[in-house]
Amino acid sequence: MHGVVEMVYETIKINKSIGALNERLASEIRKVLDEAGIRAFEFLGGPGAGKTSVIERVIQHLISEKGFKSKEIGYIGGDVATSLDTERIAKLGVQAIQINTGGMCHLESHHIATALKRLDVSSLKLLFIENVGNLVCPTYFRLGAHKRVLVLDAATGEDKVVKHPQTVRECNIIVINKVDIADAVGVNVDKLVSDARRVNPRAKIFKVSAKVGIGIREFAEELLS
Ligand code: MG
Ligand code: ZN
Repeated sequence: MHGVVEMVYETIKINKSIGALNERLASEIRKVLDEAGIRAFEFLGGPGAGKTSVIERVIQHLISEKGFKSKEIGYIGGDVATSLDTERIAKLGVQAIQINTGGMCHLESHHIATALKRLDVSSLKLLFIENVGNLVCPTYFRLGAHKRVLVLDAATGEDKVVKHPQTVRECNIIVINKVDIADAVGVNVDKLVSDARRVNPRAKIFKVSAKVGIGIREFAEELLS
């Protein structure tokens, strides 16, 4: 026997009040960022999709090719535990803060407000926020960033877009990472692209390999546009 039970209504009712508080603080954060002239990007994606690697590559490109000084770039990394990703990004010399959520599976805007207090906001021009690896609930908690970047892992299958339509719909840019190994694992990247176009026709889509360096320049141009 099988069947589908849609639980959407109950879940929405429970989350509504938390969501409203989060939204209010997110718009305050946006105001602070705008007044300081900072462009902020939130990266979401499942565990191991390569969010940190994509951010690392883009920051390297911005510093070496686009004339950004390292102190002008900030990074806030959310993880359930450890500061491994932040240590990696901090090696680039940028301002990097780790948020350990203590078990929580997504970042909320109060995390960002707290992290911003520990950054030298006056020298920042760009802010990269890496959400906890999770394709579901980060979607429902805006963090005040100007653009949302969804990092999809081309190596984990062609069904990521159709299984997470809400997340795909709520992002501005889709980065399909690891395209260099898609063939080897039998994944058709063009199917991911066409599914993504259908679900979110407005999103800009980039085929990337953070490991090899494919597509990073084009993606960086989009962030700066
Ligand atoms: Mg990471
Ligand atoms: Zn969550």
